[in-house]
Amino acid sequence: MPANKKIAIFDVDEVLLDMWGPMHKMLEDFQQRKIDDGEWVQIIRDFDQDPRPYFEFGKYFMNSPVFERLNAKRGMKQVLQAMSASGWDLAIVTSAPPEKEVGLKRRRNLHFAFGDIFKRIDCVGSKDKKAHISALSGRYEESMFVDDNPAIVQQSVGLVTHPVWRYNLPHSYALDKLDLSRADIAKTSDDILKIAGIKAASPIQRRHCR
Ligand SMILES: [Mg+2]
Repeated sequence: MPANKKIAIFDVDEVLLDMWGPMHKMLEDFQQRKIDDGEWVQIIRDFDQDPRPYFEFGKYFMNSPVFERLNAKRGMKQVLQAMSASGWDLAIVTSAPPEKEVGLKRRRNLHFAFGDIFKRIDCVGSKDKKAHISALSGRYEESMFVDDNPAIVQQSVGLVTHPVWRYNLPHSYALDKLDLSRADIAKTSDDILKIAGIKAASPIQRRHCR
């Protein structure tokens, strides 16, 4: 058993890093046309059903400098710091394309956004994600898995003590076919802290200035 008894395992895109905003803009550049929010949601749903039509764009996006400089999701840096201070080991399990260069960019981006707070960053194929989460969490008494894709969260039910769906509107269409009754929903980054049993830091009190 590791020194800490608790582990939190995070997905990357749209949980730790903001991806869809920059990606939306880049798809507009790539296709040289405006894509409104409604169509963007539809594109994400189409991609979930069949990603093949988007492979060329995916390569374009991952080869761009934007891909290495995605910003931390609002509030996540503070959430990770508070969890680490409360004795949670922090880990990442992300499905990454096999190219080594893409994995390196990802690690550089995560380091830029969060420093070296993660105990491990594991890039595994999407088919291996479930087995990997199971192997990691099995060594801890308490475990959390956070993903914005509810279908993947459902796979973690029974493997971790706290399966968490990081709410994400474009992915919510899938909910009808899923059973997330044993998972928690985090609408904000701070909700992850509440699920971890940690009180969110109170906002800094401003002194009255004369
Ligand atoms: Mg994701």
